[in-house]
Amino acid sequence: MKKILFVTSEAHPLIKTGGLADVAGSLPKALAELGQDIRILLPFYQAIKTNQEVYYRCTVRVNNSDVNILESRMQDSNVIIWLVDYPAYFSMPGNPYVDIHGQAWPNNAERFALFCRIAAEIATNRAYLDWQPDIVHCNDWQTGLTPALLSLETTRPATVFTIHNMAYQGIFPASTYPQLNLPGRLWNPNGLEFHNQLSFIKGGLAFSDHITTVSPTYAEEIQTAEFGYGLEDLLKYRQAHLTGIINGMDLEQWDPATDSTLASQYDADNLDKKQLNKAALQQAMNLPVAPKLPLFALISRLVDQKGIDMVLDCLPEMINMPCQFVLLGSGDKVFEERLQRFAQNNPTKIAIRIGYDESLAHLIEAGADIFLMPSRFEPCGLNQLYSQRYGTLPIVRKTGGLADTVVDAIPETINDHTASGIVFNAPHAGALLEAIKRCQLLFNDPKTWRQLQKNAMRKDFSWQNSAQQYLKLYEQL
Ligand code: ADP
Repeated sequence: MKKILFVTSEAHPLIKTGGLADVAGSLPKALAELGQDIRILLPFYQAIKTNQEVYYRCTVRVNNSDVNILESRMQDSNVIIWLVDYPAYFSMPGNPYVDIHGQAWPNNAERFALFCRIAAEIATNRAYLDWQPDIVHCNDWQTGLTPALLSLETTRPATVFTIHNMAYQGIFPASTYPQLNLPGRLWNPNGLEFHNQLSFIKGGLAFSDHITTVSPTYAEEIQTAEFGYGLEDLLKYRQAHLTGIINGMDLEQWDPATDSTLASQYDADNLDKKQLNKAALQQAMNLPVAPKLPLFALISRLVDQKGIDMVLDCLPEMINMPCQFVLLGSGDKVFEERLQRFAQNNPTKIAIRIGYDESLAHLIEAGADIFLMPSRFEPCGLNQLYSQRYGTLPIVRKTGGLADTVVDAIPETINDHTASGIVFNAPHAGALLEAIKRCQLLFNDPKTWRQLQKNAMRKDFSWQNSAQQYLKLYEQL
């Protein structure tokens, strides 16, 4: 049995802004089910929601600050959560990274440096918790200083750093460094310094014993200039200690056979009931109930990464096609406004919901026929997994985890029953539109479509498989 400290800035259902929360909410549970002693470390944000008891455990002094550690448990599991309670940094309205106006917290470097210091104290059993991990598993830039700090210890646990998205690196001006009171030894081009700036993510990339990222294809891609954002050479250098492990999905939350938020539950053997969800979705979005029209959907943060501009460029053509389109998301205001304008001008075809709505996301996955995910890059992606599970065939760009999890419907894969969606290559609206048209042709052939849905729904995206791979890695370290 391994003792693992899982350090993360978000974890579903307590706090979530994206895919990292889903991973942090499920991987520890899956590892616990494999018999491991795993504990999650998370900042105690004001926005944290839990129906579990939260109680005081201890106070740790770091960098002249007294920080309380609270203890709670994950819902539906025995996984312990330790919450870093430092109200001056974490107890304000907003999300983990930005305030209510969407502005990054001005003291993000201080906030997450403190979080990383606490992780290092727990990792070395100096936090009065009487627990010594074998492995410290850090995630994304917010936790990057922990492997760096631990590298200075004579006895320390092994460290793993997982990249969920290379696009977010935690870069701050060099002048931040002395303010954080970090050891001078870590400030050099092989350490935390990145072109005379402070890079949190480099702490994870340069100092952890092993780096993982969330798909094999993304592990290759980040070693190139296009996806490495200047860190490709460091990643290439660490190639022997870099692997891709695809994320699983939480089947307790995302299973159309048991999903209580749906209008009707269904599985691969009674797909007719999926139609009831389609009607419910059309009603919920104020679209005409039209069982035969292909219903396209998209749920996403509305940011460049997700190829929203490509979708916007396709909409003028799509409104001339026999189809409907629903979108749920929020983010870039320019995207939000352009999308809403399309919906206002085409109310029977396009419905846009700006905001974050977990239960609508479930209904969309169940009610739509086709899910659009034309990401420019995608470390793993979860929605294409949910879509396949819900028999909603995804149209994805051939990148990262999308390339690793969706099998393009071509004659050969249709015949051998492996096809599970549509995959296109070029990051252009023209290529997306071609994929949409190819998908419509398949949709108009109900027998083939039904088979594709079944292929997709029967794929195994459970966490067990991925958790086994992490466990194997922990055992090697
Ligand atoms: P990323 O982590 O880059 O945002 P992923 O596909 O890995 O992308 O994960 C996104 C997660 O957030 C999914 O669970 C998705 O359903 C959810 N999500 C994104 N936007 C919304 C929204 N507006 N409402 C509800 N859920 C959303």
